[in-house]
This record gives sequence, C-alpha cells and structure tokens, in this order.
Amino acid sequence: MKTYPLYLNGEFVTTEQTKAVINPATGERFARICTIDRARVAQAIADAHTAFAGWRKLTGKTRGEYLHAIANQVEARKDEIARVITMENGKPLAQSLGEVAGTADHLHWFAEEARRAYGRIVPNQVDGKRHLIVKLPMGVVGAISPWNFPLILAVRKMAPALAAGCTVVLKPASQTPICAALLAECVDAAKLPKGVFQLVAGAASEIGAEFLQNPLCRKITFTGSTEVGKTLIAGAAETVKPLSLELGGHAPVLVFDDADLHKAVEGVMMAKFRNIGQSCIAANRIYVQRGIYEKFLAAFVEKTQAQNVGDGLDPGMDIGPLIDEAAVTKALEHIENAVSQGARVLCGGKRKADSKGTFIEPTVLADVPKTALCMNEETFAPIAPVTAFDTEEEGIALANDTIYGLSAYAFTNNLDRAFRLMEALEAGTIGINDGVPSTSQCPFGGAKQSGWGRELGIEGMDAFLETKHVSLGLQI
Ligand code: NAP
Repeated sequence: MKTYPLYLNGEFVTTEQTKAVINPATGERFARICTIDRARVAQAIADAHTAFAGWRKLTGKTRGEYLHAIANQVEARKDEIARVITMENGKPLAQSLGEVAGTADHLHWFAEEARRAYGRIVPNQVDGKRHLIVKLPMGVVGAISPWNFPLILAVRKMAPALAAGCTVVLKPASQTPICAALLAECVDAAKLPKGVFQLVAGAASEIGAEFLQNPLCRKITFTGSTEVGKTLIAGAAETVKPLSLELGGHAPVLVFDDADLHKAVEGVMMAKFRNIGQSCIAANRIYVQRGIYEKFLAAFVEKTQAQNVGDGLDPGMDIGPLIDEAAVTKALEHIENAVSQGARVLCGGKRKADSKGTFIEPTVLADVPKTALCMNEETFAPIAPVTAFDTEEEGIALANDTIYGLSAYAFTNNLDRAFRLMEALEAGTIGINDGVPSTSQCPFGGAKQSGWGRELGIEGMDAFLETKHVSLGLQI
C-alpha cells in the first residue's frame, strides 16, 4: 500500500504519522496519507508568507503561465488521477474523468483571469485630488475542501487564489486526500516557486484553528457542511478572519405541466443522481405539477431503474458506493422516515445486498410529505423524493421553504414563467431546463445558510483580492 507524502515548502515530506484511505466500493484500505501536527501547519503558513513576497510581484501573465502548466500536468495524467478519485470517493470513472476535465478548465480559466485584476480611476470631487482603486492579493490563504468533488473543489479555491497573487495552504478532506497529493505532484512538475502551494493533512479542528488564529493566514476559504461552516464563523469572530464559505444545499426542482417531459426527466436524472446524489447542488425535493405528475413518475422510474449500480472502476456504472457507512445509515433513515409518513417507494429503497461496499439502490419516493426528513435535510444519496403541486405560486413557495439557498432547478417551456422563476427562486445558481448549471466562467455560491461569497467567474478571483483606495493629492 502506497503512503503519499505532503507537499511542504517545495518538498515532498513523509512523516511517521499516517492515515489510511478507504475505497468505499470494497471497504478496503488502498493508500495512506502522511499527517502533521499544528506546529507544522504553522510552519507551512510561515513558509507560504515568505513565498508570498515573491509570488505577488510576478505579473498576472506569469502567474497565469504557471497555472496553465499545472493544468497541462493534470490533463496529461487524467486517467491516473480519475482512477484515484474513483477509488477514494466511489464515483463512476466517467464522472471522475469529467471532474478532472473540469479541474483543468478551472485552472485555464483562472490562468487567463490572472491578467485581469482590474482596478479603476474614480473622478475627484475636490480640486487637486485623484482617486485610484487598486486590487491587491490578500496574502496566505488557508483552503479547506470536502470529499464529494475532491479535486475540482480544491482547485476552485487554489486556482483563483494563486491567480490573484496569494499563496495557498490546502487541507483536503481526510477521506479523499490522495487526489490532492497528485495535484501537489502536478504543481511541483509545473515548477511553482517553493511555498506558493502547500498540502497539509491532519486533525481538521487543529488545522482549522491554526488557519483561524494565525495572523499570517489572511483568508480562509471553506467548502463543506453548514455545521462546520458555523464553527468557522464562530472562530473567525475572535480574529475577524475573512471567510468564503460554500456550505450545504437542499435544491428544489419544479417541473411544470408545460415542460418538455423528456428533457425534464433527463435534467432531473442529472441533477439527482450525478455523483451518487452526493452533490451540494443535488436535487433534494422534486415538485411536479399535477397535470404531468403520473407521466413524469413513470418515465423517471424507468430511467432510474435502468441505472447500473456497482464499483465505479467497472465499465458502464452509473451509481457507485456512498462515501461511508454513516452515509448509508442516513440514507436508509431518510427512506424509512418518508415511508412512515405515507411516501410510496416506486423503486429501490434498500441497500445493495451482494456487496461489501456502501451501495444504496437508486430510489424514487412518491407523494413525499413536507414534513419528511428528506424534504428538510440534505440526503446526500441517490434518493429522489417526488411530490405534486398545483400552481406556480405554490411551487415557488415550496421551493423557497428551506434554510438553504445554493441552487434551484425548473423545467418549463414558458419564457415569461422562466423569468418569474429566475427572479423569485432564492438560490445562488438557478438551472432552467438545465440539470448541470456550474461552469468555470460563472459565479457559484449560496444564499441563506448555504454560504458567503462566490467561487468561479470573475467573482472567484475577487474573493482573494483586497480593494484599496489610494487618494493622491497632486498639484495639477
Ligand atoms: P464537512 O464535514 O464539513 O468537511 C469538509 C471539510 O472540512 C473537510 O476537509 C473536513 O476535514 C473539514 N473540517 C471538519 N471539521 C472541521 C473543523 N472543525 N475545522 C476546520 N475544518 C474542518 O463536509 P463534508 O461531509 O466533507 O462535505 C459534505 C458537505 O459539503 C455537504 O453539506 C455539502 O452540501 C457541502 N458542499 C458544499 C459545496 C458548495 O459549493 N456549497 C460543495 C460541495 C459540498 P476532515 O475530512 O479531516 O474531517
């Protein structure tokens, strides 16, 4: 079993302490990652601070060339990296390859954005003054990423921060650190100056505390649960540490009578079952207008049953294992709870019997009441709760009835309605007739308890830039 090193100040570093990584399709340990204690995380931040002085001075164009070089490394090793993502996360290989391609696209996008940290000149209102607004890198960034899209969500932080001129200390999720170790190899091969990007692993609460309390760490960017996000907010109150937070979601889908049924079913399949339902923008509540309710259910169940469930490394799989046993327990609890409140199981509903892995059959639940757990908490599993609604007003009210506001979907062929929905749905990303709305060049992030700030798009780099006003007193 291979033990992967950390990447500290330009060196691959092995340590005595390691943590095993489990393949959820087999339950077997297949690799180990080295870990460090808080004092060494502090050293990584100090080294990143030293590196910042040189990295910020490079032109945006030069920093962009480094990012293109990392992207080229990732693309050249795409098969190997995708295999590792599938082994540690469980998603089908084709989806891991998609994640690697999206990661390279993020790197190329921010490589180009590196040249565009534009400021502005503001007209003066007092004679003899001139006002410049400049954007400058914040400094060392502590980045914390989750296991569900282990590579792309790490790069969504690292690429814009590096493009902006910041240096980065990345802490990946403990269940999926190996693809981050491969990313560090790509950074090393791209010959970034030492200390500009570092990889740490260890106790999450200690690393989080160091990021929060170390004055050299100027910003924390976090993707993960709302629960952990709230602990970071509480910790940041002490030091007023700036935070970008990409937190939980509970995406509603509205399918209207006037939708193209085929496209709606395809779109909901993607929004629900991609990544085995373990996506922050996964469709969690599917509301279908009464006129097409039964027709939608019939077509949706047929497609759901046709999905292949198994080890993501095997060809042709659609649904891999859930990340761990706790995820299976939660998924089964959500099914039982919905059924106990009157929901009908139209397909699936059980754990896959003949496997050591953490597989749940793709499940469709109909007539799920508003009070069911799955209509209120993130399910993070291939479970699709469907229920009927009557009017557009009712649909919008149901969709917005959540503490979350990350994404929402609607399927309709009525343009007026599409615009009304776009304005009324309370979410940072709205997919209208689109089950996969995220893309490098558009902002992504949440309203309400789904987080603070935006990643991707021009907003993505802005999150790592400090805005300065310079007032010049001149004799002109
Ligand atoms: P999680 O438990 O919050 O963990 C996320 C990351 O935070 C991991 O690296 C974890 O480290 C670390 N962490 C845990 N406790 C910490 C602490 N006290 N201080 C600092 N870091 C800490 O979330 P998850 O289960 O990995 O991910 C699923 C959640 O992420 C879901 O709620 C999902 O909706 C959300 N998510 C949101 C987005 C978005 O863009 N809004 C995208 C993807 C996922 P360890 O692994 O070492 O514990």
